[in-house]
Amino acid sequence: AKAAGRNTYQFFTKNMNEAVSRRMHIEQALRQAIKQREFVLHYQPVVSLSNGEIIGAEALIRWQHPSKGLIYPDSFIEVAEEAGLIEPIGQWVIEQACADLKHWQSLGLALQVAVNVSSRQCKQTSKTPIKDIIKEALKDNDISPSNLKVEITESLLMDNSQEMMTTLQDIRDLGVAIYMDDFGTGYSSLSYLKHFPIDVMKIDRSFIAGSIDDKTDASLVEAVVLIGHSLSLKLVGEGIETKQHYDYLRSLGCDYGQGYFISKPIMSSEFITLCQQVGRL
Ligand code: C2E
Ligand code: CA
Ligand code: CA
Ligand code: CA
Repeated sequence: AKAAGRNTYQFFTKNMNEAVSRRMHIEQALRQAIKQREFVLHYQPVVSLSNGEIIGAEALIRWQHPSKGLIYPDSFIEVAEEAGLIEPIGQWVIEQACADLKHWQSLGLALQVAVNVSSRQCKQTSKTPIKDIIKEALKDNDISPSNLKVEITESLLMDNSQEMMTTLQDIRDLGVAIYMDDFGTGYSSLSYLKHFPIDVMKIDRSFIAGSIDDKTDASLVEAVVLIGHSLSLKLVGEGIETKQHYDYLRSLGCDYGQGYFISKPIMSSEFITLCQQVGRL
């Protein structure tokens, strides 16, 4: 029994070492990626559910690795946050999104972009406060603040409420709206809606996915739409994968939607083509 115990222990430490070294490897590669500018933004169209018109897009980061190909954010954002690299990466996201917005505007496209922001980017002690990064990016690209949106998650609000409140208020004072992402997952608390300056709620795709077959999920989606509207917030339904999902959210009066049924996240050039095809140029 003793031997087995020791083996288990060795097995455990071996795996732990592997996890640590894997993490260090990703961290090293991420530092390189920042220097070599290996990131790209893809855009997932957001439509108005009342008339199907594209109103803008959510910017989603990808890592174009020189040998491994396209890497998705779930594989590196967490490491970037823990390694203190999310600030430079997040700054690049904001600047690139504004540069792309400017390009679209030059083509006559009046669109909005939503960027995802981690709690680490919202610390008041940051080298450059996020409100200054946003302000600069808007100014440099001649973008109206109403065309940029910032998506945060509920876990960010849990982190350090007072600090986050100040940061969100600063961003909002610039004229940039705040979206609450993945609403209904994790540490959901309705009191966040009351205390924080939120403009839009994004209903998490897990509820949308379940809403057709599962009565509980459907009830939750309906309740979230009612709560949102009664607080004068707009709602975005995420993860619309079928016409059924689309029609259902539309019937509930959900304002906006995004998901594979409408379009997967695509390159900026493809997004422009899509907007041209549907007559927005
Ligand atoms: P998110 O903000 O909830 O973004 C939505 C995710 O759902 C995206 O995955 C998108 O590709 C995927 N998605 C969209 N429509 C559908 C659908 O109909 N069905 C399904 N199954 N999935 C759909 P992605 O791009 O892999 O991003 C994953 C997460 O990584 C994002 O979740 C967000 O939390 C984070 N992320 C992405 N870009 C950034 C960024 O620039 N900064 C930060 N801090 N986080 C980011
Ligand atoms: Ca998001
Ligand atoms: Ca989401
Ligand atoms: Ca998410």
